[in-house]
Amino acid sequence: MFNNLSEKLDKALHTLRGRGQITEINVAETTKEIRRALLDADVNFKIAKEFTNRVKEKAIGQDVLTSLQPGQLMVKIVKDELTELMGGDAEGIDLSGNPSVILMSGLQGSGKTTFSGKLANFLKRKKSKNPLLVACDVYRPAAIDQLHVVGDQIGVSVYSDKENKNPVSLAQAGIAHAKANGHNVVIIDTAGRLAVDQEMMDEISNIRDAVKPQEILFVVDSMTGQDAVNTAKSFNDVLDFDGVVLTKLDGDTRGGAAISIKSVVDKPIKFIGTGEKMDAVDIFHPARMADRILG
Ligand code: GDP
Repeated sequence: MFNNLSEKLDKALHTLRGRGQITEINVAETTKEIRRALLDADVNFKIAKEFTNRVKEKAIGQDVLTSLQPGQLMVKIVKDELTELMGGDAEGIDLSGNPSVILMSGLQGSGKTTFSGKLANFLKRKKSKNPLLVACDVYRPAAIDQLHVVGDQIGVSVYSDKENKNPVSLAQAGIAHAKANGHNVVIIDTAGRLAVDQEMMDEISNIRDAVKPQEILFVVDSMTGQDAVNTAKSFNDVLDFDGVVLTKLDGDTRGGAAISIKSVVDKPIKFIGTGEKMDAVDIFHPARMADRILG
């Protein structure tokens, strides 16, 4: 995960490690290399620039130049700033409803159905919840079948109705089914498209308005870097979602989406997907991720 970025940041900071005294020129060179590493990781230019400016200011402000261990102090400054950039403290999801309704959004192929299963599995095993998965993709019967396969794998019920072609009434019927059968969480898997389009946005907005979910999660493939960030912005402008799910981190060597999505949409990354299996999911902890990136 993010191997390229880790290596490059390590190299940038390496020249400062073990040094007794450093100069302002050393700090400038290091921050320039950090900026290059971020750009290589597919972080947007403006974000990378602002980030390195903050690091530089802090380094000078915190007396890195006169510190006995300037290298270590610099690593700490970069780690703190990375944590802040990725979202500060970890945030949970709202499970206060009865049932709590969680609406999934995102493009086709982003990993929505897989994550819906992972989240149901997580809530069942770790939070002792009794979730219901609801299939609202009325265009692709295969997507409905896929959700049933996922439900069977984790032992979670799935509500679907292939005769019903209205996603809003499907979502409502799913919630009514949950209430009648004692499910305290409803996870609604919606239809995605290959690219952002008005019809998809209207459809999911209509579902949102009808079911008033406690949580709207936006699911995105982390390997798509700045595209992921742009898609997040389009969805957030319409949906004002509550949190981001970054999938396929196991295949992401660059890390640009994880680093910049929060500062663009001002919404936290709540979960990460780290594989195809149902247990390959984690709550996102910015500080832990920064630790991992900086080794
Ligand atoms: P959807 O169209 O948004 O519902 O996407 P799917 O859930 O069908 O996922 C698309 C593909 O990505 C499938 O082959 C999944 O197995 C795969 N996938 C989903 N999440 C992850 C992940 O975290 N890691 C990896 N490696 N693959 C994933």
